[in-house]
Amino acid sequence: MSMIDSLQDIQNSLLEWFRGNGRHWIPWKLKNDGSIPHSGESISPYQIWIAEVMLQQTQLQVVIPYWEKWMKVFPTLTHLSESNLEKVLLIWQGLGYYSRATRIHQSSKILIDFVGKDKDQDPNSWPVGVDQWMSLPGIGRSTAGSIISSAFDLPVPILDGNVKRIFSRLLATEQPSNKDEKKLWELSSLLISTLTPRDFNQALMDLGAIICTPKKPSCLSCPLQNFCVAYKKYDPDNFPKKEMTKIKPLQEIGIGLIFNSNGELLIDQRLESSSMGGMWEFPGGKKTSEESIEKTIEREVKEELGIVVKVGAKLLSFEHNYTHKKLYLTVHFCEWISGKPIPLASQKILWVSPDKLFHFPFPAANTKIISELHKHLRIKIKKP
Ligand code: SF4
Repeated sequence: MSMIDSLQDIQNSLLEWFRGNGRHWIPWKLKNDGSIPHSGESISPYQIWIAEVMLQQTQLQVVIPYWEKWMKVFPTLTHLSESNLEKVLLIWQGLGYYSRATRIHQSSKILIDFVGKDKDQDPNSWPVGVDQWMSLPGIGRSTAGSIISSAFDLPVPILDGNVKRIFSRLLATEQPSNKDEKKLWELSSLLISTLTPRDFNQALMDLGAIICTPKKPSCLSCPLQNFCVAYKKYDPDNFPKKEMTKIKPLQEIGIGLIFNSNGELLIDQRLESSSMGGMWEFPGGKKTSEESIEKTIEREVKEELGIVVKVGAKLLSFEHNYTHKKLYLTVHFCEWISGKPIPLASQKILWVSPDKLFHFPFPAANTKIISELHKHLRIKIKKP
């Protein structure tokens, strides 16, 4: 039997498995009273949208506490659209990939014009088209599909990492899944249930999280075992085929901790137009091949803030990994010699008491510096 002949059977098997084994407790998939929505019933697109963007790069168990905190601070689209970016970044702090938070904030301004402040609690006022959602910053086709199918129970396909893996194994595709997307999207569109699309997409995501896991999938418990070509080849671990891994470039970064006579530290806020725009950081920057790290710090501080510093003792060095690059950061205490600091390469600068640093949104690498600084200064802090 071909895959096409089996579509209905695959759908039925997956939905039956979902009824007994799915994650029916995910908070943003429930109604406000905690009950499971009926077939065809709409639920809050706002709550689902925020969760789906958080889930783009982050695991469900990590997302849940961030999502719960977010909903307390920004319970509606109106609250979010009227907030400033700094507050949004502060709530996002620790989740990483901060451009997602910036884009959510930008999208909130667009959505509130479409939805209307007085109607933001009414799912019927929200967009239901894939193109409408994809026109928002940071929303791709799969995220749009997931929001629409989850919120409105409409038959819109998804193809996130979990679903790509399941389909690559079902078909035993010989290409890495990113190169075979057209075929995988077609399968997702053909398979989706028109009667219970919300459950069907959730069933796919749950199967990928619980059974068809990246390593050692539990094929013997899988409802799709009879249809799976990778399983029939005794080789599911070998699918999807891997992309060649690229070596990440390494950049050395020098960072200066500059105190004033009140014991306050100088921090600056990144330009909105830069990556991680709106977040705060300590002054510093990239080392060139011909200079020492101390010279880098002196030069960067002069270029960014227009002041002269003398570089003193080292606090720490450490490596920090991003998706496409590795940073090696070296942090030194600095003595402020002359000049009045001005934000030459940032939008704002501030002198802040070290015990108040966690009240500002910092990228993850800077958070490590703050923790080490607190240890050095023997400051005991509870993060807000
Ligand atoms: S049989 Fe195994 S490899 Fe195939 S879909 Fe199920 S868990 Fe994944």
